[in-house]
Amino acid sequence: MSQATQRVVSIHYTLTNDQGEVLDSSQGREPLNYLEGAHNIIPGLENALTSLQAGDSLKVSVEPEEAYGQRHDHLIQDVPRAAFEGVDEILPGMQFHAETPTGVQVIQVVEVNGDQVKIDANHPLAGERLHFDVEIVSTREASEEEVAHGHVHDGSHSH
Ligand code: ZN
Repeated sequence: MSQATQRVVSIHYTLTNDQGEVLDSSQGREPLNYLEGAHNIIPGLENALTSLQAGDSLKVSVEPEEAYGQRHDHLIQDVPRAAFEGVDEILPGMQFHAETPTGVQVIQVVEVNGDQVKIDANHPLAGERLHFDVEIVSTREASEEEVAHGHVHDGSHSH
């Protein structure tokens, strides 16, 4: 365990893809707060921001390996309709949360063929190069409790 202090960093960001389409943005919302070193955000973005201070801004492009990884064909599978117990209607594009050994995963329905449902468990941004335009709003030292929990306590989060 390192003794170095960990920072809570607040950023405004706009995320675009290779085509220049805006995929996500904090503009008009509260800034995004993350705890450095706690894997709260993708590594390629966190690494680019480690030496920045409040008021700094940066444009950074992140390869899939440093973002949400590559797409994997084996994560596209046919599962029986019965796996969706309690869901009346299953349509392409619907998203579900699935419990897996590595945590909760979002799966998307690709197509429905009778009793077979084709699902895609790739992250929606897997395989994408991501372009971030970031402004550092503020930084502060994380509390011991935040470091212990591995996330920021910013008022929207309580225990
Ligand atoms: Zn907590």
